[in-house]
Amino acid sequence: MRTNYLTLVNIEHPIYHPVNRGDLVSVSRDHPDILMERTAAEALKRLLSDIGAEGAIVPVSGWRPRKEQEQIWADTVAEKGVAFARKYVALPGCSEHETGLAIDLAENAPYIDFICPKFPRKGICQVFREMAPYYGFIERYQKSKEAVTGISEEPWHFRYVGTPHSEVIARDDLALEEYVERLSRKKALRRYCQTYGTAGSCRAIQMPGRLQAAGKGGV
Ligand SMILES: [Zn+2]
Repeated sequence: MRTNYLTLVNIEHPIYHPVNRGDLVSVSRDHPDILMERTAAEALKRLLSDIGAEGAIVPVSGWRPRKEQEQIWADTVAEKGVAFARKYVALPGCSEHETGLAIDLAENAPYIDFICPKFPRKGICQVFREMAPYYGFIERYQKSKEAVTGISEEPWHFRYVGTPHSEVIARDDLALEEYVERLSRKKALRRYCQTYGTAGSCRAIQMPGRLQAAGKGGV
């Protein structure tokens, strides 16, 4: 089955179709056990390479099979309690990580927290954050959207939705829930199509000058 990059996964929208294992690939040679859906993994590699962040930013967690999500949930509850787990760990079946479209990232450091990795709003991590929409990624769980997503701020969790969706979501400051809702309204969808055309051919949103000048670009 073809991947739907806009698949909404949250507590109200559990995963019905498990990911096709054949579509999963490593996100980097240095982390062969961290997998993502093929297109998402390629976009991540391109983004890290274009901003020169390979080595400075490391993948922490990509695709998770249901069993691993169950284990993470159980371990986190045992170690830190239910209240903490509810804040930072999705219930099994409700985690974007099970789609292969989500990645947790960390600033490279001797110690990296698996559940809450450090991905600061400065330096190379901030460059990644700002460039991510041009490569199909969104920062999925923002503080301002906690009431909409039901998940606490997770500055380290990025979700692949593809361009131009990611660019519109970032530009209009939307949660994925709000964007999917917007697309579901017929009138809005028509306007969207007129504005942005089809994914892949969209050039409505320009890359920042410095990357265009460098001849790089992930759109
Ligand atoms: Zn995550």
